[in-house]
Amino acid sequence: MTIAETAQAQSTRPVVAVVGRPNVGKSTLVNRILGRREAVVQDTPGVTRDRVSYDANWAGREFVLVDTGGWIAKAEGMSAHIAEQAEMAIQLADAVLFVVDAKVGLTDEDEAVVKVLRRSGKPVVLAANKVDDERVEAEASSLWQLGLGEPYPVSALHGRGSGDLLDALVKVLPKTSAVEPDEVGGPHRVAIVGKPNVGKSSLLNRLASAQRSVVSDVSGTTVDPVDELVTIAGEPFRLIDTAGIRKRVKEASGSEYYAWLRTQAAIERSEVCVVVIDASEPISDQDLKILSSVEEAGRAMVVAFNKWDLTDEERHRYLGREIEQDLQTWKWAPTVNISALTGRNVDKIAKAVNKSLAGWETRVSTGKLNAFLGRIVAANPHPVRGGKQPRILFGTQAQNRPPTFILFTSGLMDAGYVRFVERKLREEFGFEGSPVHIQVRARA
Ligand code: GDP
Ligand code: GDP
Repeated sequence: MTIAETAQAQSTRPVVAVVGRPNVGKSTLVNRILGRREAVVQDTPGVTRDRVSYDANWAGREFVLVDTGGWIAKAEGMSAHIAEQAEMAIQLADAVLFVVDAKVGLTDEDEAVVKVLRRSGKPVVLAANKVDDERVEAEASSLWQLGLGEPYPVSALHGRGSGDLLDALVKVLPKTSAVEPDEVGGPHRVAIVGKPNVGKSSLLNRLASAQRSVVSDVSGTTVDPVDELVTIAGEPFRLIDTAGIRKRVKEASGSEYYAWLRTQAAIERSEVCVVVIDASEPISDQDLKILSSVEEAGRAMVVAFNKWDLTDEERHRYLGREIEQDLQTWKWAPTVNISALTGRNVDKIAKAVNKSLAGWETRVSTGKLNAFLGRIVAANPHPVRGGKQPRILFGTQAQNRPPTFILFTSGLMDAGYVRFVERKLREEFGFEGSPVHIQVRARA
C-alpha cells in the first residue's frame, strides 16, 4: 500500500447496516455488538441519543454500525414498506447484517427484504436471532433455504453466538468504505442538514448555480453521484449527499425515516455541517435533534439562520430569546443569517465553515495544556466530595477533528466541573465551531 492508501484505510471505516423486519432484535443486537464500550463513554452527559450510527470494532477491525431498529415503525408494516426502508439502509452500506427471528421463522416481510438484498449485490451476513438455547438451533438451520449462506445462530439478548457472527461479518467487510469516501486532502466535505422546508435545496441551488460538477469517481471506487463540488467565495468545497437534498420524498410513508437516515449518513461523511434553521419560525425540537446529532458525531458546525428576508425586528427579538434558551449548548458554533432566496450573506458561509474547521483541527501541546490545567486546579479546585477532593493530575489531547481530551484524575469528577473545564478550555484555546470531547480517567 502507498502512504496515501494507508492513510485512507485508517480513516475510512466500512459501513454495516443492520436490517430486518420490526421486533427481530436489531437494536438489541446492535447494543450487544457495541457492548460495554458505549456504556462507559461519559463525556456528554444528558444528551439524548438520536443517533442511528455507531463506531464499532471487532478483532481490530473498525466499522460503522447503522441501526435501523428504532426507525422502522413497530406496528406491523406492509412488506413493501419494510423492503423500501431496507433498500435505503442497504444503499448507504458496504455490508449488511440481516437479522431474522429464528423462533418465528420466515415471514413474507423477511422474504421481501431478501429480494432487496439479492438485488443489491452487497455482502450479507445472516443472523438467526433469539436462539437462546440449543433447542432453537434446528430452526436456525432451516434458514439456509434463503440462499444467503450460513445462518449464524445468536441470542442478542444473552450474547450467545455473537462472536462467530462478528467473525463472519469482519470477513466480508471491504477494506475501506465506498459509501464513506474519506479521501485524504481535497476539498473539505460539507453537509447541509436541517429539517424539511428550512431551505436546504434552495441554499444548495444558490451555492451550485454558478458551477456544477458531480463527484463520482473517488480514488478508483465507484460511488453514487451524490456529491457536488462547489466554489464558495473562491474556495472549493465538496457538498455531501446533494442527491438526497434534491430528492424530494415528501408523500411516501416512511419519508421521515429516509430523511433522518440520510441526514445521519451525511453527518457521518462530513467534516463540517451547515445546520440550516428557518429563522422565520420558532426553533423546534427537530432542529435541536439535528444539532445534537452533529455534536455527538463530533463534526464541526455552522448554524445558518435562513429566510432572514421574512424576519422583522420583532422576530429578531424572539429569535434572540429562543437562542438564549435553547441553543446555549451550541453557542460555540458560528452563526450566519442568510437568505437562500435573495442570496443575502450566502458567501459568508465559506468563512464560517473555515473558522469551524480550524477550531475542529486545533491541537494543543501537552505542555501548554498542563500549564493551563495547573492554573485551573489552583484557582478553581474541584469541590470536596465525601471528605475527598478529586484533582486533575494530568491531561492530554488524545486527538483532534474534534479536539478530544483525556483528563487523568485522582477521583470521579462532577459533570458540572467537567463542563467548567470545557468552558475554560474554550476560553483559552478557542475551538470555535467544534465540539470538544472530554474523557475522565479516574485513578482507582
Ligand atoms: P428491533 O425492532 O428489530 O430493533 O427489535 P428489538 O431489538 O427492539 O427487540 C424486539 C424484542 O425482542 C425485544 O423485546 C427484545 O428484548 C427481544 N429480543 C431481542 N433479542 C432477543 C434474543 O436473542 N432472545 C430473546 N428471547 N428475545 C430477544
Ligand atoms: P428544504 O426542504 O430544506 O430543501 O427546503 P426548500 O429549499 O425546498 O425550501 C422550502 C420552501 O422555503 C420553498 O418554498 C423555498 O422557496 C422557501 N425558501 C427557501 N429559502 C428561503 C429564503 O431564504 N427566504 C424565503 N422567503 N423563502 C425561502
